[in-house]
Amino acid sequence: MRKTAFITGIRGQDGAYLSKLLLEKGYEVYGADRRSGDSSFWRLRELGIERDVKIRYMDLLELTNVMREVEKISPDEVYNLAAQSFVQASFEQPILTSDIDAMGVLRLLEAIRMIRPDAKFYQASTSEMFGKVRAIPQNEETPFHPRSPYGVAKVYGHWITVNYRESYNMFACSGILFNHESPLRGLEFVTRKLTYGIACIRHGLQEKVLVGSLDSKRDWGYAPEYVEAMWRMLQQKQPDDFVIATGETHSVRELIETAFGSAGVAIGWKGKGIKEKGVDRKTGKTVVEVSAEFFRPAEVNILIGDPSRAKKKLGWKPKTKFRRLVEIMTEADLQRVQGRLR
Ligand code: NAP
Repeated sequence: MRKTAFITGIRGQDGAYLSKLLLEKGYEVYGADRRSGDSSFWRLRELGIERDVKIRYMDLLELTNVMREVEKISPDEVYNLAAQSFVQASFEQPILTSDIDAMGVLRLLEAIRMIRPDAKFYQASTSEMFGKVRAIPQNEETPFHPRSPYGVAKVYGHWITVNYRESYNMFACSGILFNHESPLRGLEFVTRKLTYGIACIRHGLQEKVLVGSLDSKRDWGYAPEYVEAMWRMLQQKQPDDFVIATGETHSVRELIETAFGSAGVAIGWKGKGIKEKGVDRKTGKTVVEVSAEFFRPAEVNILIGDPSRAKKKLGWKPKTKFRRLVEIMTEADLQRVQGRLR
């Protein structure tokens, strides 16, 4: 029998890649869209699957809506990818972020517990839960110390998932995913802001890119590989939690140098602190500026994950390295912007 998957956050980066993967595996895929003003399914379109995913309107803020959808779809697997996922925005909208990223998880779990308790459940947890890290690298046993309303809400989402597994014997897994990027990443995130910005600079559409802390370090992987790990978690005999990461860390400064480098621009640095600037060595033009606007009230300085458990139990390992990931994104944005100008 064909399996049915229900993915929340269908319009997001991971929703698109996971849909593609599950469709390829023969699943019937339902995707929840919260029916916001912008109803574009550009990511599904880019992957050529816009017509293959069955869209349902569901907002995680509305319990009755969640219950009705779980009842109608009666999914075998539920992937909860919906979130207010931008850390910076969570400082401006902490209550909304908590309602979606913490209580939203509980609403979905309750609906599943009441209506389809044998459904398998995946929760999209995050390395931001480690925040002010207690160990380097971070694994499934590392204590959490979140540094943003987003991270705090996700810690609740993680523990309520574990709690429903332990209390009600539900097949519920929490995937603690470190940053994962792609050409489908939202433009607000530093990776994509940069690669899209580089393409716009190249075509004379903008002069520079504004960034926050240059020395923050992150473990960046390639999103299509990370959604494969989500699926593998739900195919295990026993539910468990897994760190998904590359095991490498790179600074925002390295990210900038690598991204510009893959567009043929060598970057030099001038100034210090908030006045530091990235300069095109050939033209002398400033192409990167640090802006206080992008500093967080509480910074996360370094994240680096240890994916050993995933390697051992899921047979999962990252394939795309940092440099190649940045090249893929830069090339995609150069082509996109060029295509738009044609
Ligand atoms: P994303 O691109 O921001 O997608 C999140 C989706 O959630 C959006 O489509 C959004 O809808 C939807 N959403 C927001 N509020 C909702 C609500 N109240 N009800 C229903 N849907 C709602 O995020 P992503 O990068 O694909 O990440 C997927 C998940 O993994 C998120 O939970 C994120 O926090 C988590 N995560 C991501 C990373 C990463 O590096 N990408 C790392 C760790 C964990 P709209 O399209 O209408 O805005």
